[in-house]
Amino acid sequence: MHRDFAETLLPFERRWAWTEINREAIRTNLKTLRKHIGPDTMILTVVKADGYGHGAAEVAKVALSAGSKYIGVACVTEGIKLRQAGIKAPIIILSEPPVTTIEAILYYDMVPAVHTVEFALALGEAAAAAGVIAPFHLKVDTGMNRVGVHYSDAGDFLRTVSFHEGLELQGTFTHFATADTADGYAFKQQIDRFEQALEIIRFMGMDPGIIHAANSAAAIRFKRSHYHMVRLGISVYGLHPSNLTRELVRLEPAMSVHARINALKQVGLGEGVSYGFTYRSPGGINIATIPLGYGDGLSRLLSNKMDVLVDGHRYPQVGTICMDMCMFEASRKANISSVRNAQLSAERKPVEYGDEVIVIGKSGSQEITMDDMAAQIGTINYEIACMFGLRLERIYVE
Ligand SMILES: *Cc1c(COP(=O)(O)O)cnc(C)c1O
Repeated sequence: MHRDFAETLLPFERRWAWTEINREAIRTNLKTLRKHIGPDTMILTVVKADGYGHGAAEVAKVALSAGSKYIGVACVTEGIKLRQAGIKAPIIILSEPPVTTIEAILYYDMVPAVHTVEFALALGEAAAAAGVIAPFHLKVDTGMNRVGVHYSDAGDFLRTVSFHEGLELQGTFTHFATADTADGYAFKQQIDRFEQALEIIRFMGMDPGIIHAANSAAAIRFKRSHYHMVRLGISVYGLHPSNLTRELVRLEPAMSVHARINALKQVGLGEGVSYGFTYRSPGGINIATIPLGYGDGLSRLLSNKMDVLVDGHRYPQVGTICMDMCMFEASRKANISSVRNAQLSAERKPVEYGDEVIVIGKSGSQEITMDDMAAQIGTINYEIACMFGLRLERIYVE
């Protein structure tokens, strides 16, 4: 009889490496954020890059059930996947997609950000031809200098496209470049410019619609940036956009990264481990392998720098991280192994084949966070989360 491997086995049975996504943490974070920003501001939950690696459709469902009104994505394909997963809420594509996607945008009832006349008119034409009105959000560039209509041109832009009966300005928004930094001047300049653009739009007799500007950092730090709606990404996942938000809200990380030991061996004094022998055994140690590598989002830059947790104890990762595997020192004799190992907790029970290893998350009193990992390789928690979303299978809990 045909037996479906994908259906009969759970992700952690198919492969001894997986991520766990805690839905309750997402709900709790949204509740915390709602309390912090107050009851009157709508929340758009950003689920681009497959929900920052957490699974876009699952996150969208949880977020919508926890009071988020809108969903934001980066591109049309991401929006289509959400519709196919049964998400009915309004979906905003946060930057203007190619004109070739317009048919799909209308078919799947999505709302694009717009910043070129070409796209606006093509959208209007297609909508009029189909006998519908296409809503859009005008993206205003107030200093990020990435995409968007320059703030001083917002009024002229709308005058150029607003004659079109197939178009409806449903919202006006901007995006901050420095909301997560201590540079208050640059932030204030952007918000002043945004309000100038809104003033011009209103002065011309148009309604800017839903006004939104804040990402997580701005939403948490600056009430003035809330307007009608805030666009929350990283904070919903329980990660801080910067150290400046840590004392303002308490967030709970939703993703943890897990593996199981699939090989364990004694490696003698002076023997190298993994490609290039960037680590050599100090003797008398066990090397444990887990099936998790840079192809799963564990950056090769972390080689010989990171730790893993087993049963509440820390162990140093050693040797070059491979595409699909990496190794760690699982010695019982912590004091005679590497210098870094000696600095770690001294008392350990021997690890065994099949033991669960925590790469990101808590084990006993120990914790390894995405912030720790990001700091080790000079990046931000956003990138770490996205990377672990690329190949690992996910288990949703609660
Ligand atoms: C990604 C993104 C956000 C969310 O930013 P966070 O810092 O993750 O909260 C908001 N707005 C736009 C336009 C984005 O691209």
